[in-house]
Amino acid sequence: MQTKILLDESRIPTHWYNIIPDMPGSLAPVINPRTLQPVTPDDLLPIFPMAIIEQEVSGERWIPIPDEVREIYRLWRPSPLYRARRLEQALGTPAKIYYKYEGVSPAGSHKPNSAIPQAFYNKQAGIRRLATETGAGQWGSSLALACSMFGLECTVYMVKVSCTQKPYRKSMMQLWGANVIPSPSEFTNAGRSILAHDPDSNGSLGIAISEAVEDAASRADTNYALGSVLNHVCLHQTVIGQEAKEQLALAGDYPDVVIACCGGGSNFAGTAFPFLADRAAGKNVRCLAVEPASCPTLTKGVYAFDYGDTAKMAPIAMMYTLGHDFMPPGIHAGGLRYHGESPLVSQLHHAGLIEAKSYRQTACFEAAHLFARSEGIVPAPESSHAVRAAIDEAVIAKEEGKEKTILFCLSGHGQLDMGAYDAYLSGGLEDFEYPEEMIRESLARLPKVDL
Ligand SMILES: *Cc1c(COP(=O)(O)O)cnc(C)c1O
Repeated sequence: MQTKILLDESRIPTHWYNIIPDMPGSLAPVINPRTLQPVTPDDLLPIFPMAIIEQEVSGERWIPIPDEVREIYRLWRPSPLYRARRLEQALGTPAKIYYKYEGVSPAGSHKPNSAIPQAFYNKQAGIRRLATETGAGQWGSSLALACSMFGLECTVYMVKVSCTQKPYRKSMMQLWGANVIPSPSEFTNAGRSILAHDPDSNGSLGIAISEAVEDAASRADTNYALGSVLNHVCLHQTVIGQEAKEQLALAGDYPDVVIACCGGGSNFAGTAFPFLADRAAGKNVRCLAVEPASCPTLTKGVYAFDYGDTAKMAPIAMMYTLGHDFMPPGIHAGGLRYHGESPLVSQLHHAGLIEAKSYRQTACFEAAHLFARSEGIVPAPESSHAVRAAIDEAVIAKEEGKEKTILFCLSGHGQLDMGAYDAYLSGGLEDFEYPEEMIRESLARLPKVDL
């Protein structure tokens, strides 16, 4: 019996699976925040290449992966599928637990699956330079990697407080040749206006987005790249679920439940969408998105039009949201602190086709601790939410004395998150109550879209 189920490089998927033609109902339009009318390709061309804009709305079910992208995917894809036998033993569960490990990418997470094609399509469109923002640094480092592969310049506006708290991801980005600018900066109008009021501003993801978008919009040779939420990012991530399906088939299994953590929704989408295609064809498979109790977008948010960012510069989308100016508590799973959610994942949840659940961070770190002691790998704090949910599904199977096959996505490793594990081990980890009052206030400020 195999512990790692591996695929040959020739089995790297040749196409991404686009769920748009299989969605329940049509997609809500994306709205321009200035005109409050549907976004047109012309609105997006100053910051995205046409190939990406087309993928955002494509009705094609299968979209070919360019050879140049598959060539770079070979550096870590197909990623391994593990059978978590030692975790099963530790839990004494009759359930089979499998995990798809995305921490084998050079950046240590699933994010390069989208960063590589985004850099490729920009290079192809004659773009010389990409600008982006990063909080804790996972997306910034993935894009820095992708730009170095295609000879593009990369400028990353990194939230200033993260530059000091997470210096090693900054070092990774610099090693891959990126220019890392602490945000707010003097380089943009958005940054200068914040600094004029508050010279010591710690920065925020919203401010960093504004700086990166302004940078890209104001230079013809520069585009912008986003690491989650958008349809094309979910599309690129579907290599995860396609490979996992083939690997499970080799093991003679099929999952009863597919689990992934959910920030903007890209690793969940990538893992679950290929299984949702089976579900639409009549297969009995549950898909479960897991989020932090302190930022409970799918479980406590509303399904409404909202701005993609705090600065109201990003397009307005129909999605589950906690309100664009909701500032989630400072949990360690920085990648799950987004007020909104992928519109595709949101629509599927609204239609009742996927489930969602939330956990507090101490429960997640306890699960990660057990996982590290049985399976060895230290999960990223984001991924620990999926580990928690998988363990709970296995414990339910034990209580009910039922066999069950569980698949979860281990979206990244936590080797650059030792500050968070230090806090957990020293008992310094705080749990935040669901900030109901803050969310209610923020939801009162949703945009009024009247089409
Ligand atoms: C960024 C990140 C996430 C959250 O992003 P999604 O778009 O929801 O997948 C989850 N896990 C890891 C390791 C990340 O870096």
